Amino acid sequence: MNTLLKGQVAVVTGAGSGIGAAVAVALADAGATVVVNHPNVPAPAEEVVGKIKSNGGTAIALGADVSKEDEVIGMFRDIVAQFGTVDILVANAGLQRDSPFIKMSLADWQFVLNVNLTGQFLCAREATREFLRRGPDSSRSVATGKIICMSSVHQVIPWAGHCNYATSKGGIKLFMESIAQELAPHKIRVNAIGPGAIKTPINRVAWETPAAEAALRTLIPYDRVGVPEDIAKAAVWLASDESDYVTGTTLFVDGGMTLYPGFATGG
Ligand code: NAD
Repeated sequence: MNTLLKGQVAVVTGAGSGIGAAVAVALADAGATVVVNHPNVPAPAEEVVGKIKSNGGTAIALGADVSKEDEVIGMFRDIVAQFGTVDILVANAGLQRDSPFIKMSLADWQFVLNVNLTGQFLCAREATREFLRRGPDSSRSVATGKIICMSSVHQVIPWAGHCNYATSKGGIKLFMESIAQELAPHKIRVNAIGPGAIKTPINRVAWETPAAEAALRTLIPYDRVGVPEDIAKAAVWLASDESDYVTGTTLFVDGGMTLYPGFATGG
């Protein structure tokens, strides 16, 4: 336990598993009251809440499909009714529906864009409305609010067979930068985290056998696959006043995956 986020309220979307679960636990360990959002599948999110409580923290699980405007608005209304306000949003929910480009259905294209990109728009907009309604309060944080967008190395690395996913992450980059520019005068900081390969359910096939993990490590100069806690530590820092002069930035947490490892031996 530390006190970096003491007295603040954080919402983490898609926090019933993987990176979101680790971020929720770490924010609570830093003193925040955490809303563990899930897509109306409560059991895994309740487990995360149980873990936070057993660590001595405070959390609740709240269902809302981040791609549905009415559900997102309802979730923020509930949070403000229960906790008074919101200080931190980690817009983390995301998924993949992979296929070669020429076989990709419009439904799979739209589904991924709706959750990964429109979901971040809807959650960031409602969080920002609440930050502005509450206004500055230096007893909570130097900033009036903090938004962290979970992006990916695929906001810069093209990804054949995953054009819907890579497009959603490329979109997050300019969405994040545009609202960071717009909201900075209001003392609202907006940043992104670009995870590399992190062991979670989303990419299980890429690391669950020794052969798959060895192949994956060839893309990672630091030569290990990441774990959700690697991302959680970065999220705590970006949510805290320790990063108060940081806005509009993507922090890649990727063991060097974005360093063009194919050029490591001279290209
Ligand atoms: P994950 O599948 O464990 O987590 C995704 C979470 O989002 C799940 O808990 C899921 O229930 C939730 N979710 C899906 N649709 C939702 C919706 N409509 N509303 C609310 N929640 C919804 O995978 P993860 O790796 O932890 O992914 C978390 C984020 O990290 C994603 O945005 C993903 O793109 C990003 N990311 C992951 C990696 C990686 O290597 N694992 C790398 C880069 C980026």
